[in-house]
Amino acid sequence: MQIRAAVLYEANSPLSIETVDLDPPGHNEVLVKMVATGICHSDLHIIKGHDPSPFPVVLGHEGGGIIEETGPGVTDLRPGDHVVLPAMFTCGKCRYCVEGEPALCSEALPAHLMGSLPGGGKRLHKNGLPLNVFYSQGSFAEYVVVHERTAVKVRDDAPLDVVCLLSCAISTGVGCIVNRARIRTGENVVTYGCGGVGLSVIMGAKLSGAGKIIAVDLIDWKLDLARELGADFTVNASKEDPQQRILEITGGGADYSIESIGSIPAIQQAFASIHSGGTCVLVGAPPMTELLELAPFEFLLGKTLTGTLLGNARSRIDIPRYVDLYMDSKLPIEKLVSGYCRLEDINGAFLDLEEGRVIREIVRF
Ligand SMILES: [Zn+2]
Ligand SMILES: [Zn+2]
Repeated sequence: MQIRAAVLYEANSPLSIETVDLDPPGHNEVLVKMVATGICHSDLHIIKGHDPSPFPVVLGHEGGGIIEETGPGVTDLRPGDHVVLPAMFTCGKCRYCVEGEPALCSEALPAHLMGSLPGGGKRLHKNGLPLNVFYSQGSFAEYVVVHERTAVKVRDDAPLDVVCLLSCAISTGVGCIVNRARIRTGENVVTYGCGGVGLSVIMGAKLSGAGKIIAVDLIDWKLDLARELGADFTVNASKEDPQQRILEITGGGADYSIESIGSIPAIQQAFASIHSGGTCVLVGAPPMTELLELAPFEFLLGKTLTGTLLGNARSRIDIPRYVDLYMDSKLPIEKLVSGYCRLEDINGAFLDLEEGRVIREIVRF
């Protein structure tokens, strides 16, 4: 079939909205009619050339849509099912999947690096040449063919143009708290960075009964939103020293410090903001070539530095659960939606993201 998609031919060029060819779903694959998809910094990193990708590529990895057709062997999904497409494929069979760490699935990264579906298949073509897809998904397109395990069924009454955000940012931020940090009631949490992930950290901390929730950012309107979502204290790091302020607020350091920016100085500050025995969790992605300098003595004080990919999401458990929490008004993810755009306007939406004017813009098909 012929569909419209946003194709990126090389870094530092605009996405080109084109008609392309999409094959029918193969074995264990499904055809999804897209309803909405979020616009994320990870897409922007490819556009700016900060992260590697095979080209040409259709980006987009925060999709929500409706199953249109199922390929041979698909038993869990049927046409008409509403699905959210998690950013990470999980095979369900490798040691990581079996051990309950599916975000580390050993099949996900090779497929992602090849720009293919799991197993190497490519279903999108332009003039007979295969197009790559981002995170085995490529949701900046009217329809996608994905592996059935990249489609998580959600309840029909949940608006897909909101819950699509559970594919990436929100699963990462909330999952960082509930799956990785696993904070206990009353523990103090600080988040460095109040973008989509950092604000989701705040929602996760609030949901988990955190004591003091402290938000650090450089932009006042993001800090205002952090307060709205549950932060008790906000620190504008361009106006005051966050480390000092956090030590004052918590009386010696936070129990957990979450870094969602991926900046080396912020990681150092986040690590310095926990008390002896505290834990600092990295969820932001620093450029792969950068190194981190820390005083090893701090580890003798029992401090832990760790990280998480996609909030250790177990998508088939977590996404429907987060949808229920959202529908019960316990997880106000709609507050992260800054606006909607059409596929044709996607380059402007990326400019908004790059220049820090939005948390999340969503393409609505
Ligand atoms: Zn993302
Ligand atoms: Zn696996």
